[in-house]
Amino acid sequence: MRLRNIRGAREAMAESDFTVNEPEENKGRWRQFFGNGNPIQLEIGTGKGRFLTTLAAENPAVNYIGIEKYSSVLLRALEKQQELQLPNIVFIRMDAEHIEDVFDRGEIDKIYLNFSDPWPKERHAKRRLTSRQYFARYNNILRKDGTVEFKTDNRVLFDFSVEEVKEAGWKLDAVTYDLHNSDMNEGNIMSEYEIRFSRGGTPINKLIASR
Ligand code: SAM
Repeated sequence: MRLRNIRGAREAMAESDFTVNEPEENKGRWRQFFGNGNPIQLEIGTGKGRFLTTLAAENPAVNYIGIEKYSSVLLRALEKQQELQLPNIVFIRMDAEHIEDVFDRGEIDKIYLNFSDPWPKERHAKRRLTSRQYFARYNNILRKDGTVEFKTDNRVLFDFSVEEVKEAGWKLDAVTYDLHNSDMNEGNIMSEYEIRFSRGGTPINKLIASR
């Protein structure tokens, strides 16, 4: 039976072995939590989890944490993980606005943002996961030479993000406006949204940012 049919999404999540319900308690202790010294990578806005579960299966020596705001979506990621039973991935249902309460300085090795919500109204710009306000948060949790990788079909959001990387004092290590036809595509794992948009012929943009 599918998890989401058993009971309410929140209750099912709270009982899952693959979610961390009080993530603040692990702040500064995530390596102990995973029981090894492997790097820890985050995906913010993980959605239904295709990208992160595939990445985790391919990289057993890396630990992965998927952050997602909505339990109804995250349940689909939990269903995938229930089948795969990967030892190196967990999920947190939370708003990424509070990531500094959950991760200590330099505790995270890499951050992935895939097809983040565009928040098209100017007054909502600071909610975009690639705004300077979010880069300031990433600055506090990401290891010194860590990177942020961002993919989107949305050219307006992408152009905004390129500017915000610079405004935040970060560097652009790589940029493409057509990922699937570029050399940055090697080893690329497609998310649910990426599959949907690229099938429709929309080119995918990608940037990698560091400090
Ligand atoms: N990354 C997935 C993909 O590429 O298929 C999902 C993309 S979907 C457009 C964006 C996801 O990010 C949604 O599931 C949304 O709930 C989540 N999200 C947006 N803002 C968030 C935030 N501040 N904290 C956590 N999750 C967030």
